[in-house]
Amino acid sequence: MRIYHCKYCSHHLRFGRKICSRCYQPTPLRNRFGNWALAFFTGFAVLILVALTLLV
Ligand SMILES: [Zn+2]
Repeated sequence: MRIYHCKYCSHHLRFGRKICSRCYQPTPLRNRFGNWALAFFTGFAVLILVALTLLV
């Protein structure tokens, strides 16, 4: 799991937060849960589909 820093105050951002808990500035898109979780699960689903295709 990656941990990002706020670019405004260098505060450790909690994963999934949309705003910094210290300075309340918006966090990088990468820190937002939807983005990489979606990418991760999409990749995972594709992997499973490929595996199933190969098995059947
Ligand atoms: Zn901050």
